Amino acid sequence: MKIVGVLGSLNVDLTVTVPRFQEAGETITGTGFYTFTGGKGGNQAVSLAKLGVPTMMIGKLGADQNGALYRDTMQDLGIEQHTVQTVDHVPTGVAMIEVDASGENRIVVVPGANYAVDRRQVDFMMGELLACDMVLMQLEIPMDTVEYAAQKLHGEGKIVILDPSPAVPLSERLLRACTYIVPNESELRILSGMEADTDEQVEAAAQTLLEKGARCIVVKLGTRGVMLVSKQSSLHVPGFKVNALDTTGAGDAFVAGFAVSLLEGKMPAEAVRFGNAAAALSTTAMGAQSAMPARAQVDDLLQRGR
Ligand code: ADP
Repeated sequence: MKIVGVLGSLNVDLTVTVPRFQEAGETITGTGFYTFTGGKGGNQAVSLAKLGVPTMMIGKLGADQNGALYRDTMQDLGIEQHTVQTVDHVPTGVAMIEVDASGENRIVVVPGANYAVDRRQVDFMMGELLACDMVLMQLEIPMDTVEYAAQKLHGEGKIVILDPSPAVPLSERLLRACTYIVPNESELRILSGMEADTDEQVEAAAQTLLEKGARCIVVKLGTRGVMLVSKQSSLHVPGFKVNALDTTGAGDAFVAGFAVSLLEGKMPAEAVRFGNAAAALSTTAMGAQSAMPARAQVDDLLQRGR
């Protein structure tokens, strides 16, 4: 049985709805309070599990209530979590989110335990990581850890997929160690230092990363779908038309769907179509993890077409 590993972040999102954002020093009354498990690593693991793939999460949680909540969530979905360590004296990562009446948000992320995911944990878990057929990473854990793990796994012949978010320019050694790098347009701008508005600009920006040693850039273009750029070819794969309600986590659903399809032996262009379908469905319900689709929904949308 093939397994996907996710080496990354686990956050608990604490969301309050407010009539308007307050001034410094002002206290206002909020209208709602919601607690969701999130973080890009956790979102991708949940999406993989909902798509029916054996999934292993590698990360860190604090010894607190939020950590316990996350463990329950992973257990309910059958995500392997003996590889998630609990750290003392550091809180589980949290995102404090305020959403005003117009839907604008203000977010403060405290990485907490995520920033304690280090080389030692990678070494300690190397046996488990090597048991995975593919490993997904994002940039919500320390860059040093991502670079270290990517190089080791690449050296062992593993497929490494990097979602470069939050975006920073990437070192050439990291570009070379990833099988696929999956930015959205604004992340591609930061990675390449170039404009990325039109298809031509996206292609040119992706090409600069290929010249530095990257193998394949998969650019998420929102409603327009995805552009797949490699040295040999460049292909625009349109997205699916759905009634989008909330695009939070769409990028994570895409990465998970893309990974699942590759794992099943599909060519990258077909895997992108599967990823687009999973991502489109994830926008049709509110929230990130709660909106991740099941395998049957994705197969159904793929059959119906656009
Ligand atoms: P991110 O969430 O990382 O910013 P995007 O906004 O590009 O990335 O969304 C990721 C993917 O989700 C897109 O490539 C597309 O497949 C899908 N998607 C996003 N928004 C929509 C939408 N409104 N309708 C259909 N598919 C969408």
